[in-house]
Amino acid sequence: MRWKSDRYTGWGRVIEAEGDLARPERLSALRDLPPTPAIGARRSYGDACLNSDGRAVDMTRLDRVLSFDPATGVVEAEAGVPIGELARLFVPRGWIPAVMPGTGFATVGGCIAMDVHGKNHHRDGAFGAHVLSITLVHQGKFKTITPDKNPTLFRATTGGMGQTGMIVSARLQMAACSGETMKVRESRAGDLDEHLALLDASDATYTVGWIDAAAKGAALGRGIIEEGEHSLDPAPRPGKPKSVPFNAPHFALSKPIVKAFNARYYGRVPEGGRTRFRTVEDFFFPLDRVLNWNRLYGKRGFHQFQCVLPTGEVAVLRELLEVIARSGLASPLAVLKRLGPQGDGLMSFPMEGYTLAVDFPNRDRALDMIRFLGTKAGQAGGRVYLAKDSLADGAIVRQMYPGHAKWAAEAAKADPKRQLETDLTRRLGLRSVS
Ligand SMILES: Cc1cc2nc3c(=O)[nH]c(=O)nc-3n(C[C@H](O)[C@H](O)[C@H](O)COP(=O)(O)OP(=O)(O)OC[C@H]3O[C@@H](n4cnc5c(N)ncnc54)[C@H](O)[C@@H]3O)c2cc1C
Repeated sequence: MRWKSDRYTGWGRVIEAEGDLARPERLSALRDLPPTPAIGARRSYGDACLNSDGRAVDMTRLDRVLSFDPATGVVEAEAGVPIGELARLFVPRGWIPAVMPGTGFATVGGCIAMDVHGKNHHRDGAFGAHVLSITLVHQGKFKTITPDKNPTLFRATTGGMGQTGMIVSARLQMAACSGETMKVRESRAGDLDEHLALLDASDATYTVGWIDAAAKGAALGRGIIEEGEHSLDPAPRPGKPKSVPFNAPHFALSKPIVKAFNARYYGRVPEGGRTRFRTVEDFFFPLDRVLNWNRLYGKRGFHQFQCVLPTGEVAVLRELLEVIARSGLASPLAVLKRLGPQGDGLMSFPMEGYTLAVDFPNRDRALDMIRFLGTKAGQAGGRVYLAKDSLADGAIVRQMYPGHAKWAAEAAKADPKRQLETDLTRRLGLRSVS
Protein backbone atom coordinates (compact mmCIF):
# COMPACT_ATOMS: atom_id res chain seq x y z
CA MET A 1 0.00 0.00 0.00
CA ARG A 2 1.31 3.47 -0.84
CA TRP A 3 1.52 5.97 2.04
CA LYS A 4 1.72 9.71 1.62
CA SER A 5 2.45 12.21 4.34
CA ASP A 6 -0.36 14.77 4.50
CA ARG A 7 -1.97 17.48 6.59
CA TYR A 8 -5.68 17.00 6.98
CA THR A 9 -8.64 18.18 9.07
CA GLY A 10 -12.20 17.25 9.95
CA TRP A 11 -15.12 19.24 8.53
CA GLY A 12 -14.73 22.06 11.09
CA ARG A 13 -11.14 22.73 9.88
CA VAL A 14 -10.01 23.81 13.36
CA ILE A 15 -7.79 20.91 14.36
CA GLU A 16 -5.19 19.75 11.90
CA ALA A 17 -3.32 16.45 11.87
CA GLU A 18 -0.14 15.53 10.10
CA GLY A 19 0.51 11.90 9.31
CA ASP A 20 0.64 9.21 6.66
CA LEU A 21 -2.51 8.45 4.68
CA ALA A 22 -3.20 5.60 2.24
CA ARG A 23 -6.23 5.33 -0.08
CA PRO A 24 -6.41 1.68 -1.13
CA GLU A 25 -8.62 0.59 -4.01
CA ARG A 26 -8.92 -3.11 -3.14
CA LEU A 27 -10.19 -4.75 0.01
CA SER A 28 -7.34 -7.23 -0.22
CA ALA A 29 -4.89 -4.38 0.56
CA LEU A 30 -6.33 -4.25 4.09
CA ARG A 31 -5.60 -7.87 4.89
CA ASP A 32 -1.89 -7.60 5.66
CA LEU A 33 -2.07 -4.25 7.37
CA PRO A 34 -1.25 -3.88 11.06
CA PRO A 35 -4.26 -2.41 12.94
CA THR A 36 -4.65 1.14 11.59
CA PRO A 37 -7.48 3.67 12.12
CA ALA A 38 -9.88 3.93 9.17
CA ILE A 39 -11.36 7.25 8.14
CA GLY A 40 -14.15 8.09 5.72
CA ALA A 41 -15.08 11.37 4.04
CA ARG A 42 -13.97 13.38 7.11
CA ARG A 43 -17.47 14.77 7.63
CA SER A 44 -17.06 14.51 11.38
CA TYR A 45 -16.26 18.02 12.53
CA GLY A 46 -13.54 17.65 15.16
CA ASP A 47 -10.76 15.12 15.71
CA ALA A 48 -12.63 11.79 15.37
CA CYS A 49 -11.17 11.29 11.90
CA LEU A 50 -7.60 12.39 12.73
CA ASN A 51 -4.53 10.45 13.78
CA SER A 52 -1.70 12.91 14.36
CA ASP A 53 1.81 11.57 13.85
CA GLY A 54 0.40 8.19 12.92
CA ARG A 55 -1.20 6.43 9.97
CA ALA A 56 -4.79 6.34 8.81
CA VAL A 57 -6.48 4.49 5.94
CA ASP A 58 -8.79 6.67 3.87
CA MET A 59 -11.58 4.29 2.82
CA THR A 60 -13.23 6.47 0.19
CA ARG A 61 -11.93 4.49 -2.80
CA LEU A 62 -13.39 1.28 -1.44
CA ASP A 63 -16.73 2.37 -2.79
CA ARG A 64 -18.32 -0.59 -4.57
CA VAL A 65 -21.85 -1.85 -4.10
CA LEU A 66 -21.30 -5.60 -3.71
CA SER A 67 -24.85 -6.91 -3.97
CA PHE A 68 -28.48 -5.78 -3.91
CA ASP A 69 -31.67 -7.77 -3.55
CA PRO A 70 -34.56 -5.84 -5.16
CA ALA A 71 -37.10 -8.05 -3.37
CA THR A 72 -35.88 -7.38 0.17
CA GLY A 73 -33.97 -4.08 -0.16
CA VAL A 74 -30.84 -5.61 1.38
CA VAL A 75 -27.69 -4.03 -0.01
CA GLU A 76 -24.09 -4.97 0.69
CA ALA A 77 -21.67 -2.10 0.26
CA GLU A 78 -18.00 -1.41 0.83
CA ALA A 79 -17.29 0.98 3.68
CA GLY A 80 -16.34 3.90 1.44
CA VAL A 81 -19.67 4.11 -0.42
CA PRO A 82 -21.24 7.52 0.29
CA ILE A 83 -24.69 7.18 1.84
CA GLY A 84 -26.05 9.71 -0.68
CA GLU A 85 -24.88 7.45 -3.49
CA LEU A 86 -26.98 4.60 -2.10
CA ALA A 87 -29.98 6.95 -2.08
CA ARG A 88 -29.24 8.08 -5.65
CA LEU A 89 -28.95 4.49 -6.89
CA PHE A 90 -31.83 2.88 -5.04
CA VAL A 91 -34.60 5.46 -4.48
CA PRO A 92 -35.65 5.12 -8.16
CA ARG A 93 -35.99 1.36 -7.44
CA GLY A 94 -38.16 1.94 -4.37
CA TRP A 95 -35.56 1.61 -1.60
CA ILE A 96 -33.83 4.23 0.55
CA PRO A 97 -31.14 3.86 3.24
CA ALA A 98 -33.20 3.48 6.42
CA VAL A 99 -31.28 6.27 8.18
CA MET A 100 -29.35 9.15 6.61
CA PRO A 101 -27.44 11.98 8.27
CA GLY A 102 -27.61 15.56 6.95
CA THR A 103 -24.82 15.00 4.42
CA GLY A 104 -24.80 12.44 1.63
CA PHE A 105 -20.99 12.49 1.59
CA ALA A 106 -20.74 10.49 4.85
CA THR A 107 -19.56 6.95 4.05
CA VAL A 108 -21.19 3.70 5.11
CA GLY A 109 -18.18 3.07 7.42
CA GLY A 110 -18.49 6.54 8.97
CA CYS A 111 -22.26 6.12 9.42
CA ILE A 112 -21.74 2.84 11.29
CA ALA A 113 -18.78 4.09 13.33
CA MET A 114 -20.79 7.11 14.56
CA ASP A 115 -24.17 5.32 14.53
CA VAL A 116 -25.59 8.38 12.82
CA HIS A 117 -29.17 9.53 13.29
CA GLY A 118 -31.48 11.08 10.73
CA LYS A 119 -34.70 13.05 10.58
CA ASN A 120 -36.59 9.82 11.39
CA HIS A 121 -34.81 8.83 14.60
CA HIS A 122 -38.02 9.21 16.62
CA ARG A 123 -39.56 6.43 14.50
CA ASP A 124 -36.75 4.27 13.19
CA GLY A 125 -33.79 4.64 15.55
CA ALA A 126 -30.19 5.14 14.44
CA PHE A 127 -28.15 3.69 11.58
CA GLY A 128 -26.93 0.62 13.48
CA ALA A 129 -30.48 -0.65 13.97
CA HIS A 130 -30.64 -1.36 10.22
CA VAL A 131 -27.23 -3.02 9.82
CA LEU A 132 -27.57 -6.77 9.31
CA SER A 133 -23.87 -7.62 9.34
CA ILE A 134 -20.49 -5.89 9.32
CA THR A 135 -17.22 -7.23 7.96
CA LEU A 136 -14.34 -5.96 10.05
CA VAL A 137 -10.60 -6.30 9.88
CA HIS A 138 -10.39 -7.82 13.31
CA GLN A 139 -7.04 -8.94 14.70
CA GLY A 140 -5.54 -9.30 11.22
CA LYS A 141 -8.45 -11.26 9.70
CA PHE A 142 -11.70 -10.41 7.95
CA LYS A 143 -14.49 -11.23 10.38
CA THR A 144 -18.20 -10.86 9.68
CA ILE A 145 -20.24 -10.02 12.75
CA THR A 146 -24.00 -9.87 13.28
CA PRO A 147 -26.15 -8.58 16.13
CA ASP A 148 -27.17 -12.19 17.00
CA LYS A 149 -23.85 -14.03 16.72
CA ASN A 150 -21.54 -11.35 18.20
CA PRO A 151 -23.87 -9.09 20.19
CA THR A 152 -21.31 -7.26 22.36
CA LEU A 153 -18.78 -6.73 19.58
CA PHE A 154 -21.59 -5.54 17.33
CA ARG A 155 -22.83 -3.08 19.96
CA ALA A 156 -19.25 -1.84 20.43
CA THR A 157 -18.82 -1.35 16.69
CA THR A 158 -22.00 0.61 15.86
CA GLY A 159 -21.13 4.01 17.30
CA GLY A 160 -17.72 2.64 18.34
CA MET A 161 -15.63 5.20 16.40
CA GLY A 162 -13.65 2.50 14.60
CA GLN A 163 -12.03 1.21 17.78
CA THR A 164 -13.01 -2.45 17.27
CA GLY A 165 -11.44 -2.68 13.82
CA MET A 166 -11.60 -1.28 10.35
CA ILE A 167 -15.10 -1.64 8.83
CA VAL A 168 -14.60 -3.17 5.41
CA SER A 169 -18.19 -3.62 4.23
CA ALA A 170 -21.70 -4.05 5.59
CA ARG A 171 -25.09 -5.49 4.72
CA LEU A 172 -27.81 -2.92 5.23
CA GLN A 173 -31.57 -3.28 5.32
CA MET A 174 -32.97 -0.34 3.37
CA ALA A 175 -36.50 1.02 3.83
CA ALA A 176 -39.17 0.79 1.15
CA CYS A 177 -40.04 4.20 -0.26
CA SER A 178 -42.90 5.20 -2.49
CA GLY A 179 -41.84 7.90 -4.89
CA GLU A 180 -38.69 9.86 -5.61
CA THR A 181 -40.04 13.18 -4.38
CA MET A 182 -40.47 14.51 -0.86
CA LYS A 183 -43.69 16.25 0.10
CA VAL A 184 -42.62 18.68 2.81
CA ARG A 185 -44.91 20.53 5.19
CA GLU A 186 -43.24 23.62 6.69
CA SER A 187 -44.75 25.21 9.82
CA ARG A 188 -43.67 28.25 11.76
CA ALA A 189 -43.10 28.06 15.51
CA GLY A 190 -43.05 31.46 17.21
CA ASP A 191 -41.16 30.39 20.33
CA LEU A 192 -39.58 27.41 22.04
CA ASP A 193 -42.80 26.02 23.57
CA GLU A 194 -44.50 26.05 20.19
CA HIS A 195 -41.41 24.56 18.53
CA LEU A 196 -41.27 21.62 20.96
CA ALA A 197 -45.03 21.11 20.81
CA LEU A 198 -44.86 20.81 17.02
CA LEU A 199 -41.92 18.38 17.17
CA ASP A 200 -43.73 16.29 19.83
CA ALA A 201 -46.99 16.21 17.90
CA SER A 202 -45.48 15.29 14.55
CA ASP A 203 -46.22 11.80 13.31
CA ALA A 204 -44.50 12.37 9.97
CA THR A 205 -41.86 9.88 8.84
CA TYR A 206 -39.20 12.61 8.80
CA THR A 207 -39.24 15.63 11.11
CA VAL A 208 -36.64 18.32 11.74
CA GLY A 209 -36.66 21.85 13.15
CA TRP A 210 -34.54 24.77 11.98
CA ILE A 211 -34.04 27.07 14.94
CA ASP A 212 -33.20 30.77 14.91
CA ALA A 213 -30.43 30.61 17.50
CA ALA A 214 -30.03 34.41 17.38
CA ALA A 215 -33.62 35.09 18.51
CA LYS A 216 -34.06 36.31 22.10
CA GLY A 217 -36.83 37.21 24.56
CA ALA A 218 -40.34 36.24 23.47
CA ALA A 219 -38.95 34.89 20.18
CA LEU A 220 -36.42 32.57 21.86
CA GLY A 221 -36.57 29.17 20.19
CA ARG A 222 -38.59 30.27 17.17
CA GLY A 223 -38.08 28.33 13.98
CA ILE A 224 -39.50 26.26 11.18
CA ILE A 225 -40.52 22.62 11.48
CA GLU A 226 -40.23 20.49 8.36
CA GLU A 227 -42.22 17.26 8.06
CA GLY A 228 -41.45 15.06 5.08
CA GLU A 229 -43.07 12.08 3.34
CA HIS A 230 -42.18 10.31 0.12
CA SER A 231 -44.44 11.25 -2.75
CA LEU A 232 -45.09 10.42 -6.39
CA ASP A 233 -45.53 14.09 -7.34
CA PRO A 234 -42.82 15.71 -9.44
CA ALA A 235 -40.33 18.01 -7.70
CA PRO A 236 -38.59 20.97 -9.29
CA ARG A 237 -35.02 19.96 -10.21
CA PRO A 238 -32.56 22.08 -8.25
CA GLY A 239 -29.78 23.85 -10.20
CA LYS A 240 -26.15 22.70 -10.32
CA PRO A 241 -24.32 22.54 -6.99
CA LYS A 242 -22.41 25.73 -6.15
CA SER A 243 -19.03 25.92 -4.48
CA VAL A 244 -17.54 28.38 -1.99
CA PRO A 245 -14.33 29.17 -3.89
CA PHE A 246 -12.22 30.62 -1.06
CA ASN A 247 -12.12 31.19 2.69
CA ALA A 248 -14.71 33.87 3.47
CA PRO A 249 -13.71 37.02 5.40
CA HIS A 250 -14.53 37.00 9.13
CA PHE A 251 -17.53 39.36 8.76
CA ALA A 252 -19.37 36.96 6.42
CA LEU A 253 -21.18 35.44 9.38
CA SER A 254 -21.15 38.48 11.70
CA LYS A 255 -24.00 39.12 14.14
CA PRO A 256 -26.00 41.63 12.01
CA ILE A 257 -25.71 39.47 8.90
CA VAL A 258 -26.86 36.35 10.75
CA LYS A 259 -29.77 38.22 12.39
CA ALA A 260 -30.93 39.58 9.05
CA PHE A 261 -30.54 36.22 7.31
CA ASN A 262 -32.46 34.39 10.05
CA ALA A 263 -35.31 36.93 10.02
CA ARG A 264 -35.69 36.49 6.26
CA TYR A 265 -35.41 32.71 6.46
CA TYR A 266 -38.10 32.58 9.14
CA GLY A 267 -40.32 35.04 7.27
CA ARG A 268 -40.24 33.07 4.02
CA VAL A 269 -42.73 30.55 5.44
CA PRO A 270 -46.22 32.08 5.71
CA GLU A 271 -47.83 32.17 9.15
CA GLY A 272 -50.22 29.35 8.31
CA GLY A 273 -47.38 27.19 6.94
CA ARG A 274 -46.98 25.79 3.43
CA THR A 275 -46.36 22.52 1.56
CA ARG A 276 -43.57 22.13 -1.00
CA PHE A 277 -42.25 19.32 -3.18
CA ARG A 278 -38.50 18.77 -3.03
CA THR A 279 -36.06 16.22 -4.34
CA VAL A 280 -34.73 13.57 -1.96
CA GLU A 281 -31.22 15.14 -2.10
CA ASP A 282 -32.53 18.63 -1.42
CA PHE A 283 -34.61 17.49 1.56
CA PHE A 284 -32.05 15.21 3.20
CA PHE A 285 -28.78 16.92 2.25
CA PRO A 286 -29.59 20.63 1.74
CA LEU A 287 -26.06 21.77 2.58
CA ASP A 288 -24.43 19.43 0.06
CA ARG A 289 -25.66 21.74 -2.71
CA VAL A 290 -22.98 24.21 -1.65
CA LEU A 291 -19.67 22.40 -1.94
CA ASN A 292 -16.98 23.41 0.58
CA TRP A 293 -19.48 25.47 2.55
CA ASN A 294 -17.20 25.05 5.57
CA ARG A 295 -15.00 27.77 3.98
CA LEU A 296 -17.70 30.31 4.88
CA TYR A 297 -16.17 30.38 8.36
CA GLY A 298 -12.79 31.51 7.07
CA LYS A 299 -9.37 30.04 7.70
CA ARG A 300 -9.88 29.67 11.43
CA GLY A 301 -12.68 27.19 10.89
CA PHE A 302 -15.66 26.53 13.11
CA HIS A 303 -17.13 24.25 15.76
CA GLN A 304 -20.45 22.57 15.91
CA PHE A 305 -21.93 22.10 19.35
CA GLN A 306 -24.43 19.25 19.46
CA CYS A 307 -26.00 17.84 22.56
CA VAL A 308 -29.10 15.85 23.46
CA LEU A 309 -31.10 16.63 26.59
CA PRO A 310 -33.67 14.34 28.19
CA THR A 311 -37.25 15.27 27.31
CA GLY A 312 -37.94 16.57 30.83
CA GLU A 313 -35.05 19.06 30.75
CA VAL A 314 -36.75 21.79 28.72
CA ALA A 315 -35.67 24.42 31.29
CA VAL A 316 -32.02 23.53 30.59
CA LEU A 317 -32.63 23.63 26.85
CA ARG A 318 -34.07 27.13 27.30
CA GLU A 319 -31.04 28.16 29.36
CA LEU A 320 -28.63 26.89 26.68
CA LEU A 321 -30.54 28.80 24.01
CA GLU A 322 -30.46 31.97 26.11
CA VAL A 323 -26.67 31.70 26.52
CA ILE A 324 -26.25 31.11 22.78
CA ALA A 325 -28.56 33.99 21.77
CA ARG A 326 -26.83 36.40 24.21
CA SER A 327 -23.41 35.48 22.83
CA GLY A 328 -24.30 36.71 19.34
CA LEU A 329 -22.00 33.99 17.99
CA ALA A 330 -24.43 31.48 16.49
CA SER A 331 -24.54 30.96 12.74
CA PRO A 332 -27.80 30.31 10.84
CA LEU A 333 -26.98 26.60 10.84
CA ALA A 334 -28.90 25.51 13.89
CA VAL A 335 -31.14 22.48 14.26
CA LEU A 336 -33.53 21.20 16.91
CA LYS A 337 -34.77 17.60 16.62
CA ARG A 338 -36.72 15.15 18.70
CA LEU A 339 -34.86 11.86 19.20
CA GLY A 340 -36.46 8.54 20.07
CA PRO A 341 -35.26 5.94 22.57
CA GLN A 342 -31.63 4.92 22.93
CA GLY A 343 -30.55 2.07 20.64
CA ASP A 344 -28.07 -0.76 21.15
CA GLY A 345 -24.75 0.96 20.34
CA LEU A 346 -22.72 1.20 23.55
CA MET A 347 -21.28 4.61 22.60
CA SER A 348 -24.13 5.79 20.40
CA PHE A 349 -25.15 9.40 20.82
CA PRO A 350 -28.95 9.30 20.38
CA MET A 351 -31.15 8.98 23.45
CA GLU A 352 -34.78 9.98 24.07
CA GLY A 353 -34.95 13.76 24.16
CA TYR A 354 -34.24 16.93 22.21
CA THR A 355 -31.04 17.41 20.28
CA LEU A 356 -29.69 20.88 19.58
CA ALA A 357 -26.93 21.49 17.04
CA VAL A 358 -25.45 24.95 16.42
CA ASP A 359 -22.39 26.07 14.43
CA PHE A 360 -20.05 28.71 15.87
CA PRO A 361 -17.00 30.35 14.33
CA ASN A 362 -13.73 29.41 16.02
CA ARG A 363 -13.28 32.32 18.48
CA ASP A 364 -12.02 32.29 22.09
CA ARG A 365 -15.45 33.37 23.39
CA ALA A 366 -17.12 30.57 21.47
CA LEU A 367 -14.77 27.95 22.91
CA ASP A 368 -15.55 28.94 26.51
CA MET A 369 -19.24 28.93 25.74
CA ILE A 370 -19.20 25.53 24.01
CA ARG A 371 -17.40 24.00 27.00
CA PHE A 372 -20.01 25.55 29.30
CA LEU A 373 -22.89 24.24 27.17
CA GLY A 374 -21.41 20.73 27.15
CA THR A 375 -20.97 20.67 30.92
CA LYS A 376 -24.55 21.88 31.44
CA ALA A 377 -25.86 19.18 29.09
CA GLY A 378 -23.95 16.53 31.05
CA GLN A 379 -25.26 17.80 34.40
CA ALA A 380 -28.80 17.54 33.03
CA GLY A 381 -28.33 13.87 32.12
CA GLY A 382 -27.68 14.59 28.45
CA ARG A 383 -24.62 14.11 26.28
CA VAL A 384 -22.54 15.73 23.56
CA TYR A 385 -22.12 14.16 20.12
CA LEU A 386 -18.54 13.00 19.55
CA ALA A 387 -18.85 13.28 15.75
CA LYS A 388 -19.00 17.03 16.28
CA ASP A 389 -16.84 17.58 19.34
CA SER A 390 -13.32 18.94 19.78
CA LEU A 391 -13.62 20.69 23.14
CA ALA A 392 -15.37 18.52 25.71
CA ASP A 393 -13.81 17.28 28.92
CA GLY A 394 -12.93 13.56 28.93
CA ALA A 395 -14.10 12.77 32.46
CA ILE A 396 -17.47 14.42 31.81
CA VAL A 397 -17.88 12.66 28.46
CA ARG A 398 -17.14 9.24 29.92
CA GLN A 399 -19.94 9.78 32.45
CA MET A 400 -22.37 10.93 29.75
CA TYR A 401 -22.18 7.54 28.04
CA PRO A 402 -23.43 4.77 30.38
CA GLY A 403 -22.14 2.08 28.00
CA HIS A 404 -18.60 3.48 28.08
CA ALA A 405 -16.91 0.92 30.39
CA LYS A 406 -18.39 -2.04 28.51
CA TRP A 407 -17.37 -0.49 25.19
CA ALA A 408 -13.81 0.23 26.39
CA ALA A 409 -13.46 -3.39 27.54
CA GLU A 410 -14.65 -4.70 24.16
CA ALA A 411 -12.37 -2.29 22.27
CA ALA A 412 -9.46 -3.47 24.44
CA LYS A 413 -10.22 -7.09 23.46
CA ALA A 414 -10.34 -6.18 19.78
CA ASP A 415 -7.33 -3.85 19.83
CA PRO A 416 -5.19 -4.68 22.87
CA LYS A 417 -2.25 -2.52 21.78
CA ARG A 418 -4.49 0.48 21.17
CA GLN A 419 -3.26 0.82 17.60
CA LEU A 420 -6.69 2.07 16.47
CA GLU A 421 -6.70 5.13 18.72
CA THR A 422 -7.44 8.48 17.09
CA ASP A 423 -6.88 12.05 18.28
CA LEU A 424 -10.45 12.00 19.68
CA THR A 425 -10.05 8.86 21.77
CA ARG A 426 -6.67 10.05 23.11
CA ARG A 427 -7.95 13.56 23.94
CA LEU A 428 -10.95 12.22 25.85
CA GLY A 429 -9.18 9.19 27.32
CA LEU A 430 -11.97 7.05 25.92
CA ARG A 431 -10.01 3.82 25.80
CA SER A 432 -9.42 3.93 29.57
CA VAL A 433 -11.97 2.61 32.01
CA SER A 434 -12.27 5.04 34.95
C1 LIG B 1 -23.43 18.85 6.85
C2 LIG B 1 -23.36 17.72 7.83
C3 LIG B 1 -24.53 17.23 8.36
C4 LIG B 1 -24.49 16.18 9.28
N1 LIG B 1 -25.67 15.72 9.78
C5 LIG B 1 -25.66 14.69 10.65
C6 LIG B 1 -26.88 14.15 11.13
O1 LIG B 1 -27.97 14.60 10.78
N2 LIG B 1 -26.82 13.09 11.99
C7 LIG B 1 -25.62 12.55 12.38
O2 LIG B 1 -25.64 11.59 13.15
N3 LIG B 1 -24.45 13.04 11.93
C8 LIG B 1 -24.45 14.09 11.08
N4 LIG B 1 -23.26 14.58 10.59
C9 LIG B 1 -22.02 13.93 11.03
C10 LIG B 1 -21.61 12.80 10.07
O3 LIG B 1 -22.71 12.08 9.63
C11 LIG B 1 -20.72 11.81 10.85
O4 LIG B 1 -19.61 12.49 11.36
C12 LIG B 1 -20.22 10.64 9.99
O5 LIG B 1 -19.50 9.76 10.83
C13 LIG B 1 -19.30 11.12 8.87
O6 LIG B 1 -18.92 10.01 8.07
P1 LIG B 1 -17.50 10.00 7.36
O7 LIG B 1 -17.49 8.91 6.37
O8 LIG B 1 -17.16 11.36 6.89
O9 LIG B 1 -16.55 9.58 8.59
P2 LIG B 1 -15.27 10.33 9.17
O10 LIG B 1 -15.67 11.68 9.63
O11 LIG B 1 -14.13 10.24 8.23
O12 LIG B 1 -14.98 9.41 10.45
C14 LIG B 1 -15.89 9.42 11.54
C15 LIG B 1 -15.52 8.28 12.50
O13 LIG B 1 -15.77 7.04 11.88
C16 LIG B 1 -14.59 6.25 11.85
N5 LIG B 1 -14.60 5.53 10.59
C17 LIG B 1 -14.86 6.03 9.37
N6 LIG B 1 -14.82 5.04 8.45
C18 LIG B 1 -14.53 3.90 9.12
C19 LIG B 1 -14.35 2.54 8.73
N7 LIG B 1 -14.47 2.14 7.47
N8 LIG B 1 -14.05 1.64 9.69
C20 LIG B 1 -13.93 2.00 10.98
N9 LIG B 1 -14.10 3.26 11.40
C21 LIG B 1 -14.40 4.21 10.48
C22 LIG B 1 -13.43 7.24 11.97
O14 LIG B 1 -12.29 6.65 12.55
C23 LIG B 1 -14.05 8.26 12.90
O15 LIG B 1 -13.98 7.84 14.24
C24 LIG B 1 -23.25 15.62 9.68
C25 LIG B 1 -22.06 16.12 9.14
C26 LIG B 1 -22.11 17.16 8.22
C27 LIG B 1 -20.82 17.69 7.64
